[in-house]
Amino acid sequence: MRLVMKFGGTSVGDADCIAKVVDLIKKSREEGNEIAVVVSAMTKVTDQIITEAEGIVSCTDKKNLDTFIDNLRDRHLTALRIVAPDYVEDVTAHINIRLERLRNILIAVNHLRELTPRSRDYIISFGEKLSAPIVSAALRQAGIPSFQISGCDAGILTDGVHGGATALPESYPRIMERIGVKLGAQVPVIQGFAGCSGEGAVTTLGRSGSDYSGAIIGAGIDAEEIIIWTDVDGVMTTDPRMIPEARVIDSLSFLEMMEMSYFGAKVIHPRALLPAMEKNIPVYVKNTFNPTHPGTVVIKESHADKRIVKAVSLIKNSSMISISGFATGKPGVAGEIFTSLAQAGVNVMLISQGSSEMNISLIITEEQVSAANKALIMIKERGLIREYTFSKDVNVVSVVGAGMAGTPGTLYRIFHGLGLAKINVMMISQGSEVNVSFVVKEEDGVRAVRAIHEEYDLDKEEA
Ligand code: ADP
Ligand code: ASP
Ligand code: MG
Repeated sequence: MRLVMKFGGTSVGDADCIAKVVDLIKKSREEGNEIAVVVSAMTKVTDQIITEAEGIVSCTDKKNLDTFIDNLRDRHLTALRIVAPDYVEDVTAHINIRLERLRNILIAVNHLRELTPRSRDYIISFGEKLSAPIVSAALRQAGIPSFQISGCDAGILTDGVHGGATALPESYPRIMERIGVKLGAQVPVIQGFAGCSGEGAVTTLGRSGSDYSGAIIGAGIDAEEIIIWTDVDGVMTTDPRMIPEARVIDSLSFLEMMEMSYFGAKVIHPRALLPAMEKNIPVYVKNTFNPTHPGTVVIKESHADKRIVKAVSLIKNSSMISISGFATGKPGVAGEIFTSLAQAGVNVMLISQGSSEMNISLIITEEQVSAANKALIMIKERGLIREYTFSKDVNVVSVVGAGMAGTPGTLYRIFHGLGLAKINVMMISQGSEVNVSFVVKEEDGVRAVRAIHEEYDLDKEEA
């Protein structure tokens, strides 16, 4: 069988983890599989690079930069020496070259006092440039022929949108030519998170985008399975860090999983499902540290499941904009609002429209409040709306399950549960037939998730 194994940051976080990754790949190869591997940066490395890049734009003291580069070097070389002792010299040289490149570009950012979206993408793709050579060397050390390659060289061609690029369909034949034909003889280790634009600039695929890289590679090589290896047993009924009673869900449809991840289930990147859906490739989510657990399978139609509601997720750090007093006699005001927000780069997560008062409520992330405000000032100055207000500190709770469509009383049951918990709902939006989302005050967010989790007995095995 031909498959993609994608390993997240925690799965390649240190030498012990990488050893587990090697075992999994080795075992799968011995079962006769052809494998393409996609890796993330080691845990926290991308965050550290972002902090350094954002700090150095205005920083006059470059001593921090030396410490930063030395720490990255120490962490990666420590792992390398343990997992691939025979390849230390070669790979160290490689890593040192990359670290010098990173140092130089950070110095340039400091001199220019400018971090453009393009240079930022180039810089933040370095985490994967450091982890992939180590994983590949560890495979060679275990007797498995392997090479490492960037997402760009592997054939991922994007639309060039920095910070959140989308892969173009032309990527697939390129991936087949560059990676597909080599499978079997070798195990390619592909740097996740980035591809490049038509003009060759590095473009990242959004935070946590290595899942998306895995799925793009899977679609490109015509994989029969894509396995997302992570640090939990599978996709769970809710974030286990928030509600410890969360349980693993054995199967979900692509649509259910997409809604869950779009609304905050961090275990998989929302866009990672698209290439898999396009080519109808099942996506497994499994635990690197507990590989015998069957995990979750995400497929076109989930297995027959009597549950109406399967999962609840939460997006924190959100803000609600209430806009009222649309100019009468001027059609298309809502359209103008959305266009201006989109032009300002604001992503609208939820919309709810009132009919009589000519008003709408929108939910955006807190970081985008200032950009949204600038866009709305102009709309107001043009006389298209009378007023707007921001309610900061709100949470979006999202309830997912294909069984909700066509089950009378679902909304009653959800809101009855919330009522019993004395939680006030500020806005409701039925985004799709598998999802109902609503907005509550920040302090009620986790309680609301718990109320629904309990109302639907999600902590219990299905009867
Ligand atoms: P990786 O480094 O493997 O990409 P992530 O940290 O991106 O891992 O995603 C895995 C984490 O997602 C889990 O450790 C878990 O805390 C969190 N998570 C949030 N919601 C869910 C959910 N519904 N199911 C499983 N994990 C979830
Ligand atoms: N390293 C990248 C990030 O932290 C991509 C990923 O881990 O999936 O966002
Ligand atoms: Mg992830």
